[in-house]
Amino acid sequence: MALTGLDIFKQLPKTNCGECGVPTCLAFAMKLAAGGASLDACPHVTEEAKAALSSASAPPMRGVTIGTGDNALKIGEELVLFRHEKTFFNPPGFALLIDDAMDEADAIAKVESLKGVSFERVGQVLKANLVAIKNASGDSAKFADFVKKVQAATDLPLVLISESPDAMGKALEVAGTSKPLIYAATESNVDQMLELAKQYQAPLAVRASSLDSLGDLTTKLDAAGVKDLVIDPGTRQLKDTHESLVYLRRAALKKKLRPYGYPTITMPAEETDDDMMEAVHAAVYVMKYGGIIVMRDLSPEKAYPLFVLRQNIYTDPQRPMQVEQGFYPINSPDENSPVLVTTNFSLTYFIVSSEVEGSKMPAWLGVVDVEGLSVLTAWAAGKFVPERIAAFVKKSGIEEKVNHRNVVIPGYVAQISGELEDELGDWKVVVGPREASDVPSFLKSYQPVTV
Ligand code: SF4
Repeated sequence: MALTGLDIFKQLPKTNCGECGVPTCLAFAMKLAAGGASLDACPHVTEEAKAALSSASAPPMRGVTIGTGDNALKIGEELVLFRHEKTFFNPPGFALLIDDAMDEADAIAKVESLKGVSFERVGQVLKANLVAIKNASGDSAKFADFVKKVQAATDLPLVLISESPDAMGKALEVAGTSKPLIYAATESNVDQMLELAKQYQAPLAVRASSLDSLGDLTTKLDAAGVKDLVIDPGTRQLKDTHESLVYLRRAALKKKLRPYGYPTITMPAEETDDDMMEAVHAAVYVMKYGGIIVMRDLSPEKAYPLFVLRQNIYTDPQRPMQVEQGFYPINSPDENSPVLVTTNFSLTYFIVSSEVEGSKMPAWLGVVDVEGLSVLTAWAAGKFVPERIAAFVKKSGIEEKVNHRNVVIPGYVAQISGELEDELGDWKVVVGPREASDVPSFLKSYQPVTV
């Protein structure tokens, strides 16, 4: 049973030194009980207390890593039901499903096509994360040979799908060192799959005919020392899967039921034959609460909106994505190039900078630290204001880089131009366009104003 905050408090040093990041031991105990802190944060806790608190200090949902190296995927370790409560931490991985009954050349081409399913958006690379290989042929040797060929064609971690311990064992002989996800242990093969997971130190997916049986299996595996588990609710209808995922997340986080405290795997590829519906199912599982989303089709036009949805859902709502304050040179500007300023909200920066870049006109783009807000929001919040902009311009060193004193501000804050000129002294403020899409034509016709 989960320990209460007071149970935990009794085991802490009670010195209220604050080194754990909260002011008192009691506050730390409450945070730990809520799953919002790690016991490691207290450097003074005794070994005896650590042993006594081990269950309380474990995160309510275990983090599981699939694969090795730069492409390894970590899922789980979520602490909240809704992103506005805190944030979601580890975005779900998208897996492309192929099987060993497919034409081999087609399968390999499909895997290789994933290299083109990669997009850069607001400074982050959005891409597929895994290749799921199913033993559809039922032939163990063929499966192992197929896995070997797929592994040679991709750097992505693998999900090996077979309920046959023999086929899984042979596939792991060729791919076991890369820590693939073994899918799946079930009521009928759990003992053999358990041994394979132990032998290869690989994460293991678990599927059962009901959530009760699922809990029994994870309890058994955990007791046997196989702790890196990924759970499949076993349902293959959108409504049922969604319902199960919500139940599992609530059970893990709110009821602290350890048997369900693992990330999940979902199978849109097996839930529908309709390509568009497959995307709809995947979108639902991005939001609630897929850890891995296995899809038959990850063509760019289908993947991009799903990847953007994932990026948006897994962005911390309390800490907007931000760009570091400073002046950014675009298209090799010189001392005569225009100087523009905007805010450090990532989306604002990347939209404006890509318009400047696309215009082929050299410019200095300054981003003012307004805690990641967009232009109008920052102005309304009293952050994108003349004093702050002027202080940034004066301290940024841009005066040594240009031989003019003109700064272009977004059209949405035209009303601050007079006050900003007063703050800047020898600078002339020019009101630019409201919309980023008008920046190229503005720059092409831009004439510096003589002070
Ligand atoms: S670091 Fe440990 S001893 Fe210090 S306040 Fe936090 S819990 Fe208490």
